[in-house]
Amino acid sequence: MFETIFALIRNQFPQDKIPLHEPRFVGNEQAYLAECIASTMVSSVGSFVDQFEEAVASYTGSQYAIAMVNGTQALFLALKLAGVSPGSEVLTQSLTFVATANAISYCGAIPHFLDVDPETLGLSPLALKKYLDEQTEISNGQRINRTSGRPISACLPMHTCGHPCRIAELAEICRTYEIPLVEDAAESLGSFLQGQHTGTFGLLGTLSFNGNKIITTGGGGMILTDNQELATAARHLTTTAKQAHPYEFIHDEIGYNFRMPNINAALGLAQIERLPDFVRQKRQLATNYRQALAALPVTFVDEPPDCQSNFWLNTLLFDSAQQKTSFLEQANQRGIFARSLWRPMHQLKIYRNCPQEALPVTENIYQRAASIPSSVRITS
Ligand SMILES: *Cc1c(COP(=O)(O)O)cnc(C)c1O
Repeated sequence: MFETIFALIRNQFPQDKIPLHEPRFVGNEQAYLAECIASTMVSSVGSFVDQFEEAVASYTGSQYAIAMVNGTQALFLALKLAGVSPGSEVLTQSLTFVATANAISYCGAIPHFLDVDPETLGLSPLALKKYLDEQTEISNGQRINRTSGRPISACLPMHTCGHPCRIAELAEICRTYEIPLVEDAAESLGSFLQGQHTGTFGLLGTLSFNGNKIITTGGGGMILTDNQELATAARHLTTTAKQAHPYEFIHDEIGYNFRMPNINAALGLAQIERLPDFVRQKRQLATNYRQALAALPVTFVDEPPDCQSNFWLNTLLFDSAQQKTSFLEQANQRGIFARSLWRPMHQLKIYRNCPQEALPVTENIYQRAASIPSSVRITS
């Protein structure tokens, strides 16, 4: 079976060594970078930042979009703006890239791991509701974890591999229990649930433009929100909390240097112009994989119902951990850079002692999941 899968992957990509994900620069990248350099405005904030923010806001339907240095810091700041305070707990999934949990830690808060849903690989609404119903209570006007006594300050789901999680249901639960919802949409630019873009269902959402994401700015990220106050606070805090003044330096808070440089935004603007085409091409690649794999005893992780996924990272589920491991070993020996999904956070030494509920789906998926090359293909 492996040989059939390797041949299928080789059919999609011309290279001898096939990376998991590489960027494509086929549009106005060179032109905008040259224009940016010629203007000398390469550093923090400039017209490309404004244009890139407007393009992302318009594509996602978010009222506000604030460009930042990377997705991890965007997530950290979004959590902080949502009110995540030191010593509180943030409900999140264990099956995620480490940045999700790290952003919680940067706030001085503690990640609390819940299981994922087998269909979407994102946070399970059933697990969330069950946990809130059975293990939390209101104390002094705050929802607290009954076991630890710590307040629950936010819920942070992630759209795994670009597939929208059951975010409308999660949003409804968070509304009922009055818990701020922040979405890690780092992988899901171009993914929609019932026509609404991922990252726009909660109080705040975040994107990443790292080199392996569907579009890249080299390094970069963005906060999405419909809340004007939070958008203003995000802009202020990411530019060292400096008050507007023609020549004095007055900072009214301890801020951060987290804004995206203009030169990165020049790249981003050229990239987002190509996004609809990238999404189309990634969906075509997924269709090719899906059709060819249908005859094999392996599960192709498909887009959930009512969704349009960007298929950021195509993923296979094998029958056993052993089968997954031998697939990954053989693929890599052949120059096909297939990868495991992330080791679940509760299995990492750094997060092992964090509060967690039963995680059977997370563990099962991790044991069986292998991601296969998913770049946008160069077509003539
Ligand atoms: C890529 C990614 C991030 C942010 O990554 P940066 O490299 O900091 O831009 C956050 N969460 C998830 C799930 C990611 O995949």
